[in-house]
Amino acid sequence: MTVENLMDKLVSHCKANGFMFQSSEIYGGLNGFWDYGPLGVELKRNIKEAWWKDMYQSHNELACPPSAPSTYDMVGLDCTIIMHPQVWKCSGHYDLFHDFMVDCRKTKKRYRFDQLRGRWVSQGPQRIFVTTMAEPEQEQEDIARRALKFFNLRSKDIERLTFEERVLTFDKLDESDRAKVLGPDTEEIGTLTDPREFNLMFKTYVGALSGEEGAAFLRPETAQGIFVNFKNVVDSTRIRVPFGVAQVGKSFRNEITPRNFTFRSREFEQMEIEFFCHPSQSANWYQYWRNRRLQWYKDLGLDSDRLRLREHDHDELSHYSCGTADIEYAFPFLPPGEYGELEGIAHRGDFDLRSHSEGKLDPKKRPLEVELDEQGNPKHRGSGKDLTYRDDLTNERFIPHVIEPSAGVDRLILALISNAFQETTSTDDKGKSETRTVMKFHPRVAPVKVGIFPLLKNKPELVAKAREVFQTLRGQMMCFYDDAGAIGRRYARQDEAGTPFCVTIDFDTLGEKPELLNTVTVRHRDDGKQERIPIAELQGWLLARVR
Ligand code: ATP
Repeated sequence: MTVENLMDKLVSHCKANGFMFQSSEIYGGLNGFWDYGPLGVELKRNIKEAWWKDMYQSHNELACPPSAPSTYDMVGLDCTIIMHPQVWKCSGHYDLFHDFMVDCRKTKKRYRFDQLRGRWVSQGPQRIFVTTMAEPEQEQEDIARRALKFFNLRSKDIERLTFEERVLTFDKLDESDRAKVLGPDTEEIGTLTDPREFNLMFKTYVGALSGEEGAAFLRPETAQGIFVNFKNVVDSTRIRVPFGVAQVGKSFRNEITPRNFTFRSREFEQMEIEFFCHPSQSANWYQYWRNRRLQWYKDLGLDSDRLRLREHDHDELSHYSCGTADIEYAFPFLPPGEYGELEGIAHRGDFDLRSHSEGKLDPKKRPLEVELDEQGNPKHRGSGKDLTYRDDLTNERFIPHVIEPSAGVDRLILALISNAFQETTSTDDKGKSETRTVMKFHPRVAPVKVGIFPLLKNKPELVAKAREVFQTLRGQMMCFYDDAGAIGRRYARQDEAGTPFCVTIDFDTLGEKPELLNTVTVRHRDDGKQERIPIAELQGWLLARVR
C-alpha cells in the first residue's frame, strides 16, 4: 500500500466510523483543526486517563520504581489557557517561539522555510531549484512536471533535463541561490521572499481593552502554568523535591502549514510533567524519564519497531536545554525510514524557575544571565518571587532542575490509529472477495470495550437476557448493544470500531444445552477465537482485560 493510499484510507475510515471529522466541515472546514466523533472522543479520553493513571494516580511514592534514582512524589494541576502575558515574555515564547516562513510574491502563499523541499534541475546552462509541496510519493513527479513546463518542454523531452540526486529543503540553499528558486505554486523563478520570523502564538484580547494593553496569548504549551504555580504547589502540599507535577490540557500554535491529519494541528492537547529535582541528580532523572516514557508507548500497544528514541544533536537543542530526546514513531505519511515526534523529553536545567523569578534569561550567555535591554534593565522582568526550594532535612536552598516529558495527545491518537489499522481480504465460496478493516487497539484504549448481541432479535427470551447482561456491564465499561443484522455483520461493525470483545447470548445461554445454562460466547477481535464464559464471571473477566 502506498503512503498516500494508506493515509487516505485512515482519514476516510476515521470519518466514516466517527473517530474524527474536520472542524466546521459543513462550511468547508478550517485547516489545522479537528473534531473527535463518538468513537474518537472515547479513544481520546482513554489515552488521557491511561496517562493520568500511570504517571500520577497509581504512582507509589513509598516505593522506588525500577531504575529510578530514588522514590518521588507526584501531584496534578489544571491551569488556565490564558495567563498573564508576562509569562510568555519570561518563558522566551514571546521573543523566540517562531518559525521562519517565506512568502510567494506572486501567489501570496506562505511556506515554512525548513519544510519547502526541492531539487536542482538543469537544462543546458540554466540550473534552477524546483520546490514542491507534494506528498513524498508524488514529489518527483511534481518536480519533473513543473520543470518541463518551466523549460517549455514536453513530457517526451524529459531526457533533456538533468535532476540532481539530493532532495534539499529551502533553508539549506546558499543565499545567493534564492533567485533561482521556482516556488511550489508559480511558473517563474525568484518569487519567494527571504525568510521572516513568524510567531506561533495566537493573540487575543482580555476584557474590553482592545489595544496592546489588553493583549494576551492562548498558551502554546501547558508547561508554563506548572512553573508559575511551583511555589503554590510547594506551599500548599507536603511534597518534597524530587517531585513531578502532571497536567493535561489544550495548547494552541498558529502553525504555518498544518498537515498530515492531526500530526500538526493548530489546536491540540498535551500531557506534560514538570519534574523538579536536585541539580546533582538531574542527569539520572533525565535518563529515568526517557526510558519510562518510551516503555509507556510500548505498553500501550505501539509496535516497538516503529518507535525510536532519538537524542538531539547539540545544535538542535532549545535555548534552555542541557539535553533533549524525542520519542518518535514511523507515521504512515512519512517515507520509509523517517520518523515523527510523539513526545519530547527535555532536561531544562533551572531556566524556567529562574526566568520567572529573576527575568528572562539570555539564551546566548553561559552561564545563563538575565537578558538586558539597551538601558541595562532586564528585557522582560520576572515576578521577583523567590522560586528557590529549601530542603527541610539538609537546610540546603537551591533552584531545582527540571525534566519535562511532554507528549501530544493528538499525535498519539494518530499513531495508535495507524498502528491499529489492518485490512484483510477474504473470498467466499462464490468467489466474491471482501475487504474488511479491523482496528487492533490495545483493549485499554479501545473506544468500546465490549459488544453485546442477542443471537436473534425476534426471540424475546434472548433479547431479555442480552439486555440484562448489557445492564450489568454498562457503567463498568463502554458497551455497545446491537441486535441489527446477521451476527457476522455485527462482529464486522465492532472490528471496524476496534472493540476487543463481543458477547453473544444464544440458545445455550437459555439452557438448550443444560451444562451451558447462563454462559455466553465471548469472541476475541484479533484472532476470531471464541470461548464460553459464565455470566456470573463475565464482568470480572472483562475488567481484568480492558483496564
Ligand atoms: P515539532 O518539532 O513537531 O513542531 P515541537 O518540538 O515543537 O514539535 P514540543 O514543543 O516539544 O513540540 O511539544 C511537545 C509535544 O506536543 C510534541 O511532541 C507533540 O506531540 C505535541 N505537539 C506539538 N506541536 C503540535 C501540533 N502542532 N499539533 C499536534 N501536536 C503537537
